Amino acid sequence: MNGHKELERQSRFERGDDVVVMKFGGTSVEDAAAIRRVIGIVQSRLKAHPVVVVSALARVTDQLLEAGTAAANGHLGAALAMVRDIYVRHEQLADSLVDGSAYSALDDELRGDFRALESLLLDLEASRQLNAKSRDHLLGFGECFSSRLINEALCQAGIHAVHVDAGACIVTDARHGQASPVWDVTEQRLQEAVSPLLQSGAVAVLGGFIASTGDGVPTTLGRGGSDFTAAIVGAALCAARIEIWTDVDGIMTADPKLCSDARVIRKMSFDEAAELAHFGAKVLHPATLAPAMRENIPVFVLNSRRPEREGTEIMARASRAKTKIGNAVSAITAKRNVAAVDVQSARVNSELLHTVYAVFDRHACVVDVMATSLGSISLLVDSASALPAIAAELRGVAEVRWENHKALVCLVGENIRRQPDVASRAFAAVSDMDVRVVCQGASDRTISFLVEESKVEESVRRLHGIFFPQPQPVRDWGGISSAYCQAG
Ligand code: ASP
Ligand code: MG
Repeated sequence: MNGHKELERQSRFERGDDVVVMKFGGTSVEDAAAIRRVIGIVQSRLKAHPVVVVSALARVTDQLLEAGTAAANGHLGAALAMVRDIYVRHEQLADSLVDGSAYSALDDELRGDFRALESLLLDLEASRQLNAKSRDHLLGFGECFSSRLINEALCQAGIHAVHVDAGACIVTDARHGQASPVWDVTEQRLQEAVSPLLQSGAVAVLGGFIASTGDGVPTTLGRGGSDFTAAIVGAALCAARIEIWTDVDGIMTADPKLCSDARVIRKMSFDEAAELAHFGAKVLHPATLAPAMRENIPVFVLNSRRPEREGTEIMARASRAKTKIGNAVSAITAKRNVAAVDVQSARVNSELLHTVYAVFDRHACVVDVMATSLGSISLLVDSASALPAIAAELRGVAEVRWENHKALVCLVGENIRRQPDVASRAFAAVSDMDVRVVCQGASDRTISFLVEESKVEESVRRLHGIFFPQPQPVRDWGGISSAYCQAG
């Protein structure tokens, strides 16, 4: 069966055809100017057989949720007014991007969809509830609208684009709000719907985020799920690359709000991206890229406002060569609002560890790092809110003390811990700053420090200065444009 599939795939793409999946997020399609940029970007990739995946226009998913909540609370008038605004926004964009008969056809489709949305709001008002199932149905409208609009805008620009209903191709379980794809059926449906289009030279356009159960009940892949759609489509079509087009230049070496020197990371591994996400960086969530990772498809994070920039390449397999020649540290991240907990007991043994873990777990208190020593267990947790209850529950077994307002500053890089000088240079940089604990996570990719929350900026900046020194200004001794020459 698999061999057969493999053969089929090879024959479909035997001419060495590439497929590139290009996902555009909400801000990349937020208005007419943004959609025109998208058209230009797709045009620049036509030879690479693009498949376009789009999010709802910026803010639309939140507005749909707000309208649904209003309807379920009995405020039907307000709910209808909100979706009316969403309709007008799409309609105006259609008007400025699409002409003539194509405009009328698109407008008919949009009207039809909006009527369905209005009748859903009536149902919500009647039933007075918005459950996970109806919420999926409701929120999916955003991607239905945006994908039709962008498909027509691409056609208008002379691109042979064809809309593909993602809801019908991506088949999931019935876990509404966060459904998981049923892989075999989804792969088959995507191949059947999209491959022939690509073969004929067309660009396929799909809404992200939306899917349905085997019985055709609408589901979604969870908020922010369009990235997941792109990875699913990429894996099903054996894409050569997946591009996530957004409104930043890529994944940065540090949060630019903390550190103005932060720069774009050119290449990183999926594992590094996962560590970054875990340690508080707002990056593309690697879990959503799992299908790409499995199929070893590189993912690029690119800026639709500045498409000429190189962006970040997230490689399925870390390049072995990289850490040898380049910087061992890929990024520095900080997680605030951490509490350092000390659990003291006369007897620290595996039974106690087990009990302590179970109690933290029961209180949904996520433990980040853990170390044991004679007589105590040290833990870092994301929030102190459950600690009083945990301390009460452990009374008699162990004494629980904690300190708030800490932050975990973390260096991330492939094999970072195999490079002994990294830890010592980092420690030297912050040793005067009351670094309470130096803890090393379980992976080879992180080294972390616990600092006072008030010292986060300072410590990130210092560490960044050490591991990402500013390039020396190039002195152009002979050139007339050089500042030195002008001054002299
Ligand atoms: N529109 C959906 C959301 O806002 C999915 C996405 O944009 O990825 O969550
Ligand atoms: Mg997103």
